[in-house]
Amino acid sequence: MSDPNRVPEWMEKREYTLLGAIPFVVIHILGIGGAFFVEWTTAAVVTCIVSYVVRLWAVTAGYHRYFSHRTFKTGRVFQFILAFLAQTSIQKGVLWWASHHRRHHKYSDLEGDMHSPVRDGFWFSHMGWLFVKGADETEYDRVKDLSRYPELVWLNEHHLVPPIVLGVICFVTMGAPGLFIGFFLSSVLVWHGTFTINSLSHVFGKRRFETTDDSRNNWLLAIVTLGEGWHNNHHRFQASTRQGFYWWEFDITFYVLKVLSALGLVWDLRPVPEKILAEGRAADTDRKAGRTPATVKGTEPPAQPALDPAA
Ligand SMILES: [Zn+2]
Ligand SMILES: [Zn+2]
Repeated sequence: MSDPNRVPEWMEKREYTLLGAIPFVVIHILGIGGAFFVEWTTAAVVTCIVSYVVRLWAVTAGYHRYFSHRTFKTGRVFQFILAFLAQTSIQKGVLWWASHHRRHHKYSDLEGDMHSPVRDGFWFSHMGWLFVKGADETEYDRVKDLSRYPELVWLNEHHLVPPIVLGVICFVTMGAPGLFIGFFLSSVLVWHGTFTINSLSHVFGKRRFETTDDSRNNWLLAIVTLGEGWHNNHHRFQASTRQGFYWWEFDITFYVLKVLSALGLVWDLRPVPEKILAEGRAADTDRKAGRTPATVKGTEPPAQPALDPAA
């Protein structure tokens, strides 16, 4: 019998729910199918690209680096804007996302990790886990630091409000092309861009740190996902804002955060400690010489509750 804290009942039972899959399938049909039937106007195509980049950035900078890992600080208003923008990506609510992601780091590629390609295969880790009955529950005890903000709890409980607002704006301003290409098609692309980190980034790419999970660094995924492809770096040291540890490890999310910090919208971006960089250099040297570096445990999710940004 598994530890119920580590493997909740829903994960153990693994019953699929058709109800959970319907919106997912419908949005794919609307996005990919709809794109064949509407005119590809310049405005709709530009919106598709811009809303891909902006929303994926909000997912990586907001959902991931701020809410899940708290790698930088900001004020309460910008915190809300980050959550709202990230929620336009239709990836459920901010607290749901952060609680599940913290679970992923706690049990990476072990029993209790709900999306491990090593344990459950590509498709389950990419998206199959989303259709398991119970997967849509927020694990509030993992996000006590965030759930003290009533506006975030409200957003989490009304997680469809931001995407509906964006969809309506696209339709009202650009008509059917805006809705189907600018919103639905872009949403499908944002989904799969995000999902590759759970699936491909634990299978394809190079390992620098010999972490206890199977995370990889992959330059191509880093471009597609605005910097999230440096996933092995991230599993080794979650607390740093940047995931590309060097200038040649392209990390657009971090560059934008640097600009925002110069503007005073975010602050206290946490650096990669010299000790970790030195460990990485030694591991690179070992691999070049054909040796496997010593195994290192990835850092744990942030302790709670210690968030003091948006007081
Ligand atoms: Zn993470
Ligand atoms: Zn991972």
